[in-house]
Amino acid sequence: MTLQSFGVIGLAVMGENIALNVERNGFPIAVYNRSREKTDAFMAQRAGGRNVVAAFTLEEFVAALERPRKILVMVQAGKPVDAVIAQLKPLLQEGDIIIDGGNSWFEDTERRTQELEPTGLRYIGMGVSGGEEGALNGPSLMPGGTKSSYEYLSPIFNKIAAQVDDGPCVTYIGPGGSGHYVKMVHNGIEYGDMQLIAEAYDLLKNVAGLSAAQLHEVFAEWNKTDELNSFLIEITANIFPYVDPETKKPLVDLIVDAAGQKGTGRWTVQTALELGVAIPTITAAVNSRILSSIRDERIAASKQITGPSGKYTGDIKAFVNMVRDALYCSKICSYAQGMALLSTASTTYNWGLNLGEMARIWKGGCIIRAGFLNKIKKAFDQNPALPNLLLAPEFKQTILDRQAAWREVIITAAKLGIPVPAFSASLDYFDSYRRDRLPQNLTQAQRDYFGAHTYKRTDKEGTFHTEWVPIA
Ligand code: NAP
Repeated sequence: MTLQSFGVIGLAVMGENIALNVERNGFPIAVYNRSREKTDAFMAQRAGGRNVVAAFTLEEFVAALERPRKILVMVQAGKPVDAVIAQLKPLLQEGDIIIDGGNSWFEDTERRTQELEPTGLRYIGMGVSGGEEGALNGPSLMPGGTKSSYEYLSPIFNKIAAQVDDGPCVTYIGPGGSGHYVKMVHNGIEYGDMQLIAEAYDLLKNVAGLSAAQLHEVFAEWNKTDELNSFLIEITANIFPYVDPETKKPLVDLIVDAAGQKGTGRWTVQTALELGVAIPTITAAVNSRILSSIRDERIAASKQITGPSGKYTGDIKAFVNMVRDALYCSKICSYAQGMALLSTASTTYNWGLNLGEMARIWKGGCIIRAGFLNKIKKAFDQNPALPNLLLAPEFKQTILDRQAAWREVIITAAKLGIPVPAFSASLDYFDSYRRDRLPQNLTQAQRDYFGAHTYKRTDKEGTFHTEWVPIA
């Protein structure tokens, strides 16, 4: 019997599409899903004429694969991954490779690696981005684990990943849980991008008064620019003209304004707090989804608390351009935060992340794919030790050129009572990062006052404590 070269466990939306991608690229596959119905449906609807073996027990699945076995697990993150590994482990042999392609918490990946590798099995924790379409036609892949295991798999990864001008959107990320960590930060950046776009939309709709057709035009125009051209701006432009067949209204206007989340944005904020890295734009994006989700409470509050009632009286075209500049400056700050987080994680966990390569593999396949990532790659290629993207000459100049517009947009929003939490958090990040003196001298004085926490002085070395006395 001819054996299959690659196995996929889990035939939900991601698993079935990535399985078809692998097979289309010349690697015969075996598939298995816990419940039989998904396997039957996959074989009946999507696997016709392809080199696919369907297995209905894990024993059959493992027996269908050539050695060393290469098995991609695409199941729900968390306990299901442990359950699948526990069932697979006794069936596998030395050298076989398990690849977890779900959105696993990176510490789980570290633990699983430590549990499996001493037994002779190999383990790769791989972030996969691009949703259903990416999985089928070419995702961005972020594999972490032992380098030799990655090298063994790289001929497959290189073929199935999205292809861009400078290669496939995959690279060796680093050891242990680094691949899943990088994917998590990618998702955090995605949250930031989506919130910034939502704020721009709010301003264009509710301050500039643009119609759905005009919103489409503006976003389509922005998508042609070097700086904002991206998948998320493209789909935003496509959303506005979509008319609900029933009501003949723009569908977007009928959608409930409560955003869901699956957890990778929250994880990004949690790990940033633990590592002591400020990511205020991404944090604002997560908080905005949380606030959006208490919809009933907001609606009740809106009947009791009023805001400013003024209208924007300035030039609309100029305002639209200012919003574009504010969006771009904020986006630079958001990526600066995400990259700073990756840099600190890399040092803390000894991962040796190549930040320019991270930007490169996000250029295609994934949700944050954008022309702008070329500029980030270039910035890190020119200076791999760059402490913050805001110091890269091109980004620094861009913000200096556009900061007046950025500030004006935030002032206008505040005056009219439109919340722009991610725009504001980005500007605060920029202003805090660029200032040589912040007011935390007072914080230190207060801490010393109430808790004898001591402070340092600007004019001499040493650690000091003062017996602060109240002024009578
Ligand atoms: P999903 O809805 O997260 O998970 C469903 C799959 O997990 C089904 O195949 C299900 O099998 C299986 N499963 C659940 N519990 C199991 C258990 N205890 N033992 C064995 N199998 C179990 O599927 P998905 O959306 O395709 O995502 C798969 C992974 O990719 C997730 O980690 C997800 O976060 C990540 N991801 C998703 C996307 C996306 O756009 N959806 C994008 C990137 C990454 P049954 O059919 O038997 O229930």
